[in-house]
Amino acid sequence: MSLVLEGRILNPATEFVGKGRIVVENGKIKDVGSKGEVEIPEGAEVIETKAKATIMPGLIDAHVHFTGFRTGDYIKEGLLTPLGLFVARAIKDLEATLDAGYTTVCDAGSIVALHLREAVNEGTVRGPRIIAAGYPISQTFGHGDFHFLHPKLVDARESLLNFPFQSLLCDGEDECRKAARHALREGADFIKIFVTGGVASQRDRPEYPQLTRKEIAAIVEEAKRAGRFVHAHAESSEGYINAVEEGVEVLAHGMDLNDDAINLSIEKDITLIPTLTIADIILKFGEAAGLPDWAIEKTEEVHEIHIESIKRAYEAGVRIATGTDFFIGSKEIQLYGMNSLEIKLLAEKVGMEGMEVLKAATLNAAKAAHLNAGSLEKGKVADIIVVEGDPLSPEILLDKRKIKLVVKGGRIVKIVKNDLIGF
Ligand SMILES: [Zn+2]
Repeated sequence: MSLVLEGRILNPATEFVGKGRIVVENGKIKDVGSKGEVEIPEGAEVIETKAKATIMPGLIDAHVHFTGFRTGDYIKEGLLTPLGLFVARAIKDLEATLDAGYTTVCDAGSIVALHLREAVNEGTVRGPRIIAAGYPISQTFGHGDFHFLHPKLVDARESLLNFPFQSLLCDGEDECRKAARHALREGADFIKIFVTGGVASQRDRPEYPQLTRKEIAAIVEEAKRAGRFVHAHAESSEGYINAVEEGVEVLAHGMDLNDDAINLSIEKDITLIPTLTIADIILKFGEAAGLPDWAIEKTEEVHEIHIESIKRAYEAGVRIATGTDFFIGSKEIQLYGMNSLEIKLLAEKVGMEGMEVLKAATLNAAKAAHLNAGSLEKGKVADIIVVEGDPLSPEILLDKRKIKLVVKGGRIVKIVKNDLIGF
């Protein structure tokens, strides 16, 4: 059966704002235009939204981790929590994210998310569409290695324990190729690699390049042969440039990018996901959440540099997409569901305004996910939300109660019937 939405439409991809009608059929947008142009198919369910409501594309978090962690104490959480508990918590986090208007998430590393993808697809769990990396690939002493644990605990192929942050450790082209094939074998939609150090890895630093060009090239080749893409954690220029030169299309963080890295991003049509949110959250709540001191100290050190770097990249014309990098929830603050914090930070700190920042959260994030969505155009996946008020103000999107309707793949997955939504 078809679904029809009518009312005030805002489409960041085309910068259209105005009244109109959208027809959804078989999970896709079949038609969109003015009431005069678009007919209502026979037997369609028609949802008419009132003046205060806005119809827009579903939001996308293009870099996040559904792990079920509840504290930053890696030892306690990682080694003493059973996998089933992680899964139960992650289910709650997925629901909260969906209810906040997020129709797709790219999980950049968590085996829990990889398995929950199936639970969401079969309708057992309410959540956004999950596009998952599963096990990320790291060199030994890389950002995905837990430097304080035995390597056999870290590598998912070796470990007797299961925890959500396990990686595939590999050194040398052949091992990297094998790790990529293992990630694909486990069901990865894309391959996640670490090409620099970072703040949440104990003994490296953001400026260290990780994986050699040949190692990156081997992984990219395996991904492409299987019709997949590579998404890299990349904080500073050397590793970032290595990744882009070897065919990585999606890069996260970009904490300290020089002109060469920025120019190359434009030349190669890269999507950059700044993930400003996670630094902001670590600085505000990291200590209370039990994150180690070294992670908080490194975050303090690079925070301002990061914002400057993203500003320069954005002003030069690099495509920016939203991603929070949430990786732990907490009992005190409900982070998952607050994914639009990234929209607010990109607006406030980087100066991305109005349609531009909403485009980052829809069309650009869809590009990072390699998904034909993120815009209210004919032929796109029908991911649509109805918001009470004007989403050009980021505060509106942060208030879950203002998300009145969520349509994912053409199906209604959240509806709050009130004076804004009629039938
Ligand atoms: Zn991440």
